[in-house]
Amino acid sequence: MKIEGICAIITGAADGIGRAVAEELLVKGAKFVAVLDINETKGEETTKDLTEKFGKERVKFILCNVAKNDEIESAFQKAFDVHKHLDVIINNAGVTERHSDILQINLGSVITGSYLAKDYLSKGNGGKGGVLINTGSLSGLCLFKDARYTATKHGVVGFSLSLALQDSCFSKDDIRVGVICPGFVTTGITQNLPPEVVFVSMDQVVEAYVLMIEDDTKHSCCIRVTPNLGIDLHPITCPQQFAKY
Ligand code: NAD
Repeated sequence: MKIEGICAIITGAADGIGRAVAEELLVKGAKFVAVLDINETKGEETTKDLTEKFGKERVKFILCNVAKNDEIESAFQKAFDVHKHLDVIINNAGVTERHSDILQINLGSVITGSYLAKDYLSKGNGGKGGVLINTGSLSGLCLFKDARYTATKHGVVGFSLSLALQDSCFSKDDIRVGVICPGFVTTGITQNLPPEVVFVSMDQVVEAYVLMIEDDTKHSCCIRVTPNLGIDLHPITCPQQFAKY
């Protein structure tokens, strides 16, 4: 899908990865990006900056706590109502285990946001298909000390990839689904990590989201971003006898 002309929703886009992806979509000609976030001050600040660069009609901040399903539903509706159309939905908001609502924010909201994506993008509902991206993490593919965070991200990876096995879902509606698993990148949630940690660059992480949107062959895939291999596909194993059920 060409990014030029698309309408997108990004949760947790006031800062960090979400913000960087929002900016890149606008650079590449997105018609409209809805910035959803719980942080009103930061959200307004980011939106002001993006509207100064790209025009007021192309960005809208929508206050939304993704831990609350009714707030996600209403925020998605508000974003849809701007052009009565959506092409790309990125469930990205996330926190570390210091947050008491981590399960609902990191995993519950991804599940809610993914089924809403089906409603809004689906050809059966008048949409044109589109791309659903969920932000996972390398900690969704291996083990990290932050156990609850690790559990939520394994959930995001498993949930996102399993969607493609559901006959009634997504593929039939021309919705491509990808989960992106970045390694450590410098944002608010990594500021307390020790200096020996090897980070990936924000540019590389953003490139992975762009790849998922632009490459129409990518579906039901898990894209990793690691310091040693850069952007690559995580191999998915699903024994056929299990995939059927
Ligand atoms: P960040 O803190 O810079 O940005 C996260 C954004 O989500 C913030 O703007 C925050 O206000 C928002 N947010 C938090 N709780 C919310 C809620 N309940 N409702 C709505 N918005 C909420 O962090 P980031 O690193 O950009 O994280 C974005 C995503 O990337 C997360 O899912 C995170 O787990 C994932 N991730 C980050 C890294 C990393 O190293 N930074 C690595 C892998 C995955």
